Amino acid sequence: MKNKEAVCDVLVAGAGVAGCCAAIAAGRAGAKTILLEAGGFPGGTAVAIRHRHLCGLYPQNSGLPREILRGLTRFNPKSKFVRIGKLRAFYFYPQNLESVLRQLLNHAPNLTVKYNCPVTGVKREGSLITAVNAKQGKSRLIFKPGALIDATGGGKAIEFSGARYELSPKKSRQLAGFTFEVRELNDREGLLPIKVPYSLSLAEKNKKIFPYLRFSSFAYGQIKNSGVIKVNIPAQDKPQGERQARKYANLVNNSLRKTLPEFGKARISWVSAGIHDREGLRLAGEYTLTGKDVLGARKFPDAIAKGCWPVESWDQENGQKITYLKEKAFYEIPFRSIKSSDTMNLFAAGRCISADPQAIASSRVTGTCMYIGEAVGKKAAFFLKDEYTIDQSLQLKLGRRNKRQHAYRRANAPRGDPVTGSLSLGTRA
Ligand SMILES: Cc1cc2nc3c(=O)[nH]c(=O)nc-3n(C[C@H](O)[C@H](O)[C@H](O)COP(=O)(O)OP(=O)(O)OC[C@H]3O[C@@H](n4cnc5c(N)ncnc54)[C@H](O)[C@@H]3O)c2cc1C
Repeated sequence: MKNKEAVCDVLVAGAGVAGCCAAIAAGRAGAKTILLEAGGFPGGTAVAIRHRHLCGLYPQNSGLPREILRGLTRFNPKSKFVRIGKLRAFYFYPQNLESVLRQLLNHAPNLTVKYNCPVTGVKREGSLITAVNAKQGKSRLIFKPGALIDATGGGKAIEFSGARYELSPKKSRQLAGFTFEVRELNDREGLLPIKVPYSLSLAEKNKKIFPYLRFSSFAYGQIKNSGVIKVNIPAQDKPQGERQARKYANLVNNSLRKTLPEFGKARISWVSAGIHDREGLRLAGEYTLTGKDVLGARKFPDAIAKGCWPVESWDQENGQKITYLKEKAFYEIPFRSIKSSDTMNLFAAGRCISADPQAIASSRVTGTCMYIGEAVGKKAAFFLKDEYTIDQSLQLKLGRRNKRQHAYRRANAPRGDPVTGSLSLGTRA
C-alpha cells in the first residue's frame, strides 16, 4: 500500500449538498481546498434516495443555493417552487441534482475532489487537527489541512478526531429511511398517496408487517404507471446497506400486492443503495442550537445561515410529527454551532452541526444544509486568513511542545496571508 501526503488549507469530508457547498465556497474564497467523498457521486442522501423536494429554501434565496436552483431549472424547466400544505419546497428531478453539483464542483477554483476516498482517521493534537487519513484504492492518503469541515452527515470525521460530540440513544433517534420505485401500477383513480398508508396500517394491525412500515408514504413517479415509496425504519449504529433496504422494499411491496388491486402486477424497479439516517452524531459546538431557538425564531449576533423549515420529527412510535414556526418566521444558526468547542480548526456542516434533536429535525433538510455548507466553507477559509496562521512546520512540532503555549502563540502570530501564501497542494510520495 502506497502512502501519499498532501497539504491544503481546507479539507471537507463528505460531498453531500452541505459538503459540496462548503468546498465550492472555500475554494472560491481563495483557500486551497480538498473534498473527499466516500461514494462515487456528489449530492449524498438527496441524490441517493432521490427525494423530490428541496426543503428549507427561500423563494428569494441567494448564493450557492440560488445557483443550484438555476442549474436545476436549466436542466428541467418543470423544476419550481411548489406548495406542500402550509409549506413551500422546490420540486426537482433528483438525477439533475448530481449533474448540477458536478458542474459547480468542476468549475470551482482551488478545489480538488476525490471520489471513492473515505476519511478513515483524523489526528488531533491538543486542540488542533493536524492530519486526516483517507483511503483511495490501494493508496493511503495523509492530508495536513489548516481546517477540517465534517460534512459526512453522520459526523464520522468528528468521531475519528476524538472531539466532543452528542449522539442520542438509538431508541430515541429519528427514524431512518430509504425509497424504492415500483412500476406497472394499474391506477385510474389517483388515490394511491392515501390508499398506500391506509393499507399498510391495516396490515400492521393484523400483525402482517413491522409496526414502523405503516409510516411509509407513496408519491407518483416521473414515468407513467410508476410510483416512489418512502419507507421509514429505526436507525441503527451500523450502516444499513442495499440488502436491508431491498428486504424492507419486498415486504412493503408484497403486502400492497395482496391488498391493493392497483399493485396486482407491481414490480420493484429500483431501490436506494442503503438506508439513510435522519439523525446521527452531532458536533458539540460552542453553542448548541435548540428546538426552542427554532420554534421561537431566535436571532443571533454571529448568525451565518437562516432556517425556515418546521420541526419535522420522525418518531419511532408515532411517525411524522410537524411543529410549525409562525408564518413567514425564520430562525438563525450561529457561527458557534458549527465550530467545535474543543478543537480550534474543526467545523461541521449540514446534518452534523451542533443542535439538539428537535433543532436538527428542522435544520437537516437539504435547503438549510446548502446554506449552512456555503457559510461554513467561507468561514473556514476566512478563519484561516484572519485568526489562524498556517505554519506546517509548527504543526509538525506540535506534539513536542506545550500545547497551550503553542495555541496561544498561534492565535497571536502576526497576521499574514496564509491562504494565498500557503503550502502547495502537490502530493509528496
Ligand atoms: C428518508 C429521508 C427522506 C428525506 N426527505 C427529504 C426531502 O424530501 N426533502 C429534503 O429537503 N430533505 C429530505 N431529507 C433530508 C436530507 O436529504 C438530508 O438530511 C441532507 O441531504 C443532508 O445533507 P448533508 O450534506 O448534511 O449529508 P449527506 O447528504 O448525508 O451527505 C454526507 C456525505 O458524506 C459521505 N461520507 C460519509 N462518511 C464519509 C467518510 N468517512 N469520508 C468521506 N465521505 C463520507 C457520504 O457518502 C455522503 O455523500 C430526507 C432524509 C431522509 C433520510
